[in-house]
Amino acid sequence: MRKIRASPKGPEFIKYLHEFVSESIGEKGLNVLLSMGDGATDEIIEQKTKYKIAEIRSLLNHLHSYGFVEYTREKNMQNGWFTYTWKSNRDRSMQNFLMIKKKEVERLRSGISSEEGAVFYKCTKGCSRMNFDFAMEHKFRCPTCTKDLKYLDNKEELKRAEIRIKAIQKILESKSALATIENGFSPKI
Ligand SMILES: [Zn+2]
Repeated sequence: MRKIRASPKGPEFIKYLHEFVSESIGEKGLNVLLSMGDGATDEIIEQKTKYKIAEIRSLLNHLHSYGFVEYTREKNMQNGWFTYTWKSNRDRSMQNFLMIKKKEVERLRSGISSEEGAVFYKCTKGCSRMNFDFAMEHKFRCPTCTKDLKYLDNKEELKRAEIRIKAIQKILESKSALATIENGFSPKI
């Protein structure tokens, strides 16, 4: 097998990772992640982002549940409180990202194969969508609101799905993705 020597922390990796974080947590989540550097406490993140501390904690929990960040905690012996230091967990983030993208491709592919060549009808109000047999059974009227059913051209939808698959495949076949897989791709999510 061909040996891939790309660094899983190269600029391409970072770009996908940032897109993934902002898709899953939002722009504010990404800003919190970017403010951490090599390690930061809640207070440092607060100074850098100017977000409210309650919002930062909620974003941190969110980031942690996705595996984007990890933390260490230290007990203050005088008051007994814990100080949390956060930093990003890039390898796990990238693994989760690749897993989700692979699932998306599978979902799109099975969607395409079940829709290709099929004829669909849609309620003009948008409350139902069905195949030809079902539409005929209902005399081409919506079973929910009784409005007329209209022939639905799904060619554009299929084309969009194909384009999306190609875009994801480009990511999955990128050097940084392959390097991440080689460096221990484990389907943990
Ligand atoms: Zn309807």
